[in-house]
Amino acid sequence: MRMKHKPWAEPYLRSHPEIVLTPSEITSDRGKTLLHLTPLFLEIGTGKGDFIVGMAQKNPDAYFFGIEKSPTALAITAKKVVEAQLTNVMLLNDDALLILDLFPEQTMQAIFLNFSDPWPKKKHSKRRLTNEKVLSTYFKLLKKNGKIYVKTDNIGLFEFSYENFSNMAYDIVEYSHDYDGHDAFDYPTEYETKFRAQNIKINRLIVQKGEHTHETDPSATETV
Ligand code: SAH
Repeated sequence: MRMKHKPWAEPYLRSHPEIVLTPSEITSDRGKTLLHLTPLFLEIGTGKGDFIVGMAQKNPDAYFFGIEKSPTALAITAKKVVEAQLTNVMLLNDDALLILDLFPEQTMQAIFLNFSDPWPKKKHSKRRLTNEKVLSTYFKLLKKNGKIYVKTDNIGLFEFSYENFSNMAYDIVEYSHDYDGHDAFDYPTEYETKFRAQNIKINRLIVQKGEHTHETDPSATETV
């Protein structure tokens, strides 16, 4: 999503340290404590925050951590969090592909990827949020039996994601080209609302961290 940069965004984010963590806080004592709250859910690419705010309101006993690289989009999200007086949302303004390796392992109950940038050109496939490398990172962040939820209008990104998950130690839980949105543990995003109004079909993929050892995890040991 290309957003016009708003000059109030960074100052606003800085003025809400109770919600917005800085990248260096991830490995601090505060960050570690917050990232071990449970159950904890991660959204990557919050956009303007309809999803994370809606989910946090509907699930007050769960914690939601959102990463978004656009300061303006994240500031709009942060404003919604402040206005709704939510205390179960944490936000971070950074590129997830650069920061996720700092997060503690086996902390996330689920990860949500909502209408991620498709990066249709092959030479840009490394930037897709479901490239093989980042799927290994997600695997480490997820708790046992943790899930990843992908919603997208983009069939190319959908099939790319499905193939990569299938090639790794993830079990496919749902594969739908026409998701109706009727899931109590879900909430429509800004893109989703726009697409549904235009009768554009929404694809949804849900995968679960498999029981078996992850083949690309260097710390993995074979059990016979
Ligand atoms: N989830 C929202 C926005 C979708 S647009 C919705 O469904 O309406 C994709 C969003 O992901 C944009 O806001 C973009 O800035 C963000 N994004 C893309 N790549 C990212 C990355 N590597 N790290 C963090 N955010 C990213």
